[in-house]
Formats: sequence, C-alpha cells, structure tokens
Amino acid sequence: MPALQPRSPAASLPVQRRRRGAAADLAEALAARIGGEVRFDPASRALYATDLSIYRQVPIGVVIPKDVADVEATVEACRARDVPILGRGCGTSLSGQTCNVAVVIDFSKYMNRILAIDPDGRRARVQPGVINDQLRNAAKKYGLTFAPDPATHAYCTLGGNIGNNSCTHGDGRQDRRQCRGTRHSDL
Ligand SMILES: Cc1cc2nc3c(=O)[nH]c(=O)nc-3n(C[C@H](O)[C@H](O)[C@H](O)COP(=O)(O)OP(=O)(O)OC[C@H]3O[C@@H](n4cnc5c(N)ncnc54)[C@H](O)[C@@H]3O)c2cc1C
Repeated sequence: MPALQPRSPAASLPVQRRRRGAAADLAEALAARIGGEVRFDPASRALYATDLSIYRQVPIGVVIPKDVADVEATVEACRARDVPILGRGCGTSLSGQTCNVAVVIDFSKYMNRILAIDPDGRRARVQPGVINDQLRNAAKKYGLTFAPDPATHAYCTLGGNIGNNSCTHGDGRQDRRQCRGTRHSDL
C-alpha cells in the first residue's frame, strides 16, 4: 500500500499556472469577439464570488453581454474549451446558485429591456435581465401581472425568477390564483 505523503502547497503551483494561462487565453478570445465587457481581473472575480447566501466561489471570469450575439459567442468559446458557464441576474439567491468556478454571464447590466407586451395574448417578450417590478409595472396598465413575486421583486430579474422557479413572498394563495393556467412566459 503506498504511504500517504503530506500535501505540499508547491505541488499545486504548476496546475494553478496552467489554469491561469487557460483563463487568460479565454479572456483574450472573448474580448476579441464580443462587444460587451470581459472581466477576468481579480477585483471583478471577487465581486462576483458571492450572492446573498453564505457561499463563496471565485469565478474563472465574468462576461457582461450587450446582446444575444455576445451570449452565443461566450457559450461557444467556453464550450470549445470545456469551461462551465453560469447565468446571473441580480445575485439575490439564497443558496449559492450564482457562485461557482465558471464563467459568470451577468444579464442585468445591458440585457434588461422589455421588448414587447401583447395584452390580448397575455404574453411579454423580455430580455432576461429585466427587473421583476419593471415588467409588473408595465403590465399593470393592461390589468395584467407577472405571477412570481419574490420579496426581492424590486431587484430580482426575470432570468433569476425562472432559474430559481421563484414564487411569491406571501402565503402562496396569490400565486395559485395568478398562476392558474399560465406559464412563466405568460403574463
Ligand atoms: C431577503 C430575500 C427574500 C427572498 N424572498 C424570496 C421569495 O419570496 N420567493 C422566492 O422565490 N425567492 C426569494 N428570494 C430569492 C431570490 O431573490 C429569488 O429567487 C429571485 O427570483 C432571484 O432573482 P435574481 O435575479 O437575483 O437571480 P440570481 O440569484 O442572479 O440567479 C438565480 C438563478 O437563476 C440563474 N439565472 C439567472 N439568470 C439567468 C439567465 N439569464 N439564464 C439562465 N440562468 C439564469 C442563476 O444561475 C441562478 O441559478 C429571496 C431572497 C432574499 C435575499
């Protein structure tokens, strides 16, 4: 049976150097392809290492896409290198959902517009970074609402609502009434 050796911190240095090199290569490839922000610096990575939970995982880097083409290019570049990706809205999750060793894609800064509301069809087309209250306020004038209503409705995004399968902060009766016969894509 092989004897167990004490773990030497120096032993992991080559691995760390290789990872840093691969991350720098990915950042360079992304910066050349996308119009949005590519942030792989230590300060940005520290900023995105937490959400509203107790967890902390420093991401590989952060991409803040300006449009769908940026998202597609990011997914493609990460997939080609076998690098995990993680979507992020406003990071109000309570269980570490937005913390991981991955390339974090932050939809809240630029991809936050309501594209169309169709009151007759009770549908809205939105970008994933739209804030929950923005959609609810816009739908109000048609006598409609968007049922998921977390306590963080003033900050959380539609992408995060769907990612977390969010529900209301009340006793649930409002959700059940509003959700009857609707899907997330419905108003
Ligand atoms: C004080 C407090 C009260 C809360 N009350 C409630 C409540 O009443 N009900 C409730 O349901 N939740 C509640 N939450 C949790 C949280 O606020 C909600 O779940 C909210 O919907 C998360 O939205 P977000 O934009 O912050 O998403 P994030 O935290 O940024 O992301 C949530 C999940 O969605 C994924 N995601 C985000 N955007 C995308 C995207 N574009 N594409 C793919 N995946 C994406 C993320 O990877 C993550 O897994 C509360 C949190 C706090 C701090």
